[in-house]
Amino acid sequence: MTPIHHAGITDVGCVRKHNEDNMLLRPELGLFVVADGLGGHAAGEVASQIVVETVARFVGDTTEKDRTWPLDYDTTVSFDANRLRTAILLADQAIAEDIRSNPERETMGSTVVGVLLHGATVTMAHVGDSRAYLLNSEGIQQVTRDHSWVAEQVANGILTPSEARVHPFRNVITQALGNGGDIDVDLQNLELQETDRLLLCSDGLSGMVGDQQIWEIVKGAPTLQSAAEALIEAARANGGEDNITVVVVGLGSDEALPKKIQA
Ligand code: CA
Repeated sequence: MTPIHHAGITDVGCVRKHNEDNMLLRPELGLFVVADGLGGHAAGEVASQIVVETVARFVGDTTEKDRTWPLDYDTTVSFDANRLRTAILLADQAIAEDIRSNPERETMGSTVVGVLLHGATVTMAHVGDSRAYLLNSEGIQQVTRDHSWVAEQVANGILTPSEARVHPFRNVITQALGNGGDIDVDLQNLELQETDRLLLCSDGLSGMVGDQQIWEIVKGAPTLQSAAEALIEAARANGGEDNITVVVVGLGSDEALPKKIQA
């Protein structure tokens, strides 16, 4: 199987005192996750930590198919989609459970974006406004659609994407983990080419650095690690108003963005 290469960095940014983001880098499982905790006062980081731990445990425990499933198994989607979706729903329940024993954390929650690679097949899931992008030498494409108020207005033609970026409600998300129910996990599939790269990030990157600039930075970096470092640096240079988490994943080599092979 083509080897998976990756790099991941999480950074507190220039303004916040705590880093409430968390990430999970598990190439041996083909699993990569970014979680952006909400709630402040040392609660957000607890929520995002619960997410990465719960997802790592469930995905790690379900490498074989013959296992009793804790929640509804959806036969219309793949095994990996069920693993990722169930792991995220269990994380939602685990946060709600933690809040029941620690009522001072009642406002905590978390977004999540995660990918599970099986060969070149990528299963992707997200809740909230943490994003996945697909990049190659031709350009950048946001693969996830934010569960946010401004994204809904853009989808309905009420706001333009550039208006959404500066709108006062740009941080209002319409879904987050932590209520212990009623979560609609968005699932997607794609086939990753060796010339493609996946980027997972919290809104501390996407809110500070535009898509085109993200693409230019990755294109100009030699390796995945240097691309991740340069993205963090750009978010900080643009203000670093929030915690910044960046995970880049590719197949075949650790080049930031392999050139398309000309036939
Ligand atoms: Ca954030």
